[in-house]
Amino acid sequence: MVFEAFGLSGEVLKAVSELGFEEPTPIQVLAIPKMLLGNDITGQAETGTGKTAAFGIPVIEKIERNKRETQALVLCPTRELAIQVAEEFSKLLKYIPSVTVLPVYGGQAIDRQIRALKGGVQIIIATPGRLIDHIDRGTLNLKNVKMLVLDEGDQMLDMGFRDEIETIIFELPKNRQTVLFSATMPKPILEISQKFQKNPIFIKVPDRELIVPGIEQFYIEVKEQDKLEVLCRVIDMQNPPLSLIFTNTKRAADYVTLHLNTRGYLVEGLHGDMKQQQRDRVMGRFRARNIDILVATDVAARGIDVEDIDTVFNYDVPQDVEYYVHRIGRTGRAGKTGKSITFVSPKEIYKLRQIQRYANIRIARIPVPTLRDIEETRTQQVIEQVREIVMDGGASAYQKLVEQMMQEEYSSMEIAAGLIKIVLDSKGDQKGNGKDYNENIPVHATSSNMEKLSINIGRERGIRVKDILGAIAGETGVPGRLIGAIEIQDRHSYVEVPSSEASHIIEAMHNKTIRGYSVILTPAKKRGQY
Ligand code: ADP
Ligand code: MG
Repeated sequence: MVFEAFGLSGEVLKAVSELGFEEPTPIQVLAIPKMLLGNDITGQAETGTGKTAAFGIPVIEKIERNKRETQALVLCPTRELAIQVAEEFSKLLKYIPSVTVLPVYGGQAIDRQIRALKGGVQIIIATPGRLIDHIDRGTLNLKNVKMLVLDEGDQMLDMGFRDEIETIIFELPKNRQTVLFSATMPKPILEISQKFQKNPIFIKVPDRELIVPGIEQFYIEVKEQDKLEVLCRVIDMQNPPLSLIFTNTKRAADYVTLHLNTRGYLVEGLHGDMKQQQRDRVMGRFRARNIDILVATDVAARGIDVEDIDTVFNYDVPQDVEYYVHRIGRTGRAGKTGKSITFVSPKEIYKLRQIQRYANIRIARIPVPTLRDIEETRTQQVIEQVREIVMDGGASAYQKLVEQMMQEEYSSMEIAAGLIKIVLDSKGDQKGNGKDYNENIPVHATSSNMEKLSINIGRERGIRVKDILGAIAGETGVPGRLIGAIEIQDRHSYVEVPSSEASHIIEAMHNKTIRGYSVILTPAKKRGQY
């Protein structure tokens, strides 16, 4: 399918080609011919599918160029969209200087708009509120409007513009063409269609498969200032062989790169300010695995096609669902599985919800890893390595050495434990772990299925985190890794435990001792409850 097939004017075809549109998008294929025929249309297609040109091209073609009166009205939900749509119209009108388009939105000096309107504009792109202002002032003549477009209909209704839309429509001639575009088709949109359209033709473009299957998507809720710390924790926990970190801005990319670097990670940044040569060098090092973490902005990451990226981290929530999809699509390539983890500050939660809604996906929440989680994983990794080496017989050459040590009266158990400590300590050093962690980071309520218990002893009795952890694990059989944050106060302490285990733990701990003091656990008072 090509644009020429619609029978468009040479001027519009030239402008379309200058815009770089090679072929019409699916919604354009369906909408343009029917709109040219004068039908009322209700069109549904996702964001970013080219709906503006789908109605823009036919509207422009149907304008009578020698008449200065307002012939088409496009309503948009926001000032930004009105400006954006007006700009696309201007580009399409590049070779038709006799047709003018004017965006009319709140916040702009009304006098200027009035003067511009007096000159006669054929196409008005307006937000509902400001348009009604002009209607009330009588600075607008809508008697000759023969085309009305309601753009982003769902959003306009979401924003509560229903009454305004009706008010405006009552000002328009009855024998007009009414076109409605929306990303979704909730009931209120269909009601508008029923009320104001004549024999509307419904067209719908099937939703794209937005998400590459095989990508597990998670998010972690974390305060902005704690993001870096939590990012490091997650990297240490998961140890992805190759990962990509996205940031929204160049500044954030630099900041994250610098800090990960000082913490000893093999990381480099990639952003738009870099010369091509520099970028190629960084990409080369990433491909060759000389670095295992790449930090990039959306623009810089365009076209990155590296296989085997295990994890994509979104240091901030991308502005737009398309970016999100593009970002996480860097992993899980070629049928492999991948993982994405998005760091969400309280301010960004709404953006995450929008992404989930628009892309119709579910992003699962995971808790901030505790220092204990990390330790546990690291230990597991070492044990796993030892197991593999022993199974492969790769350590048999060293048995003599162990035998020698055992003759010095050390048990094999002690020797093994000592070696594991060395390994763990050195692993910690590599990335500056342990020492550099900010222990004070608030680990927010670990998860909704955790319950906070209060313990009647604290710092004054010399109680330490590991005492509580050890006692609970020892007395109740609940493994330490299931126990959440432990908080030591002067005279009492708190411990988060799985809700399902809470009553069992309370009972099993009753009158047991920790460091010689008998303890009682009770459910912690929730803030504001008493
Ligand atoms: P929607 O309103 O459906 O969200 P837009 O009309 O804003 O989408 O279009 C999204 C982007 O796609 C714009 O940058 C637009 O210029 C571009 N675009 C529109 N039609 C085409 C086409 N046929 N080929 C390439 N790009 C297009
Ligand atoms: Mg649009």
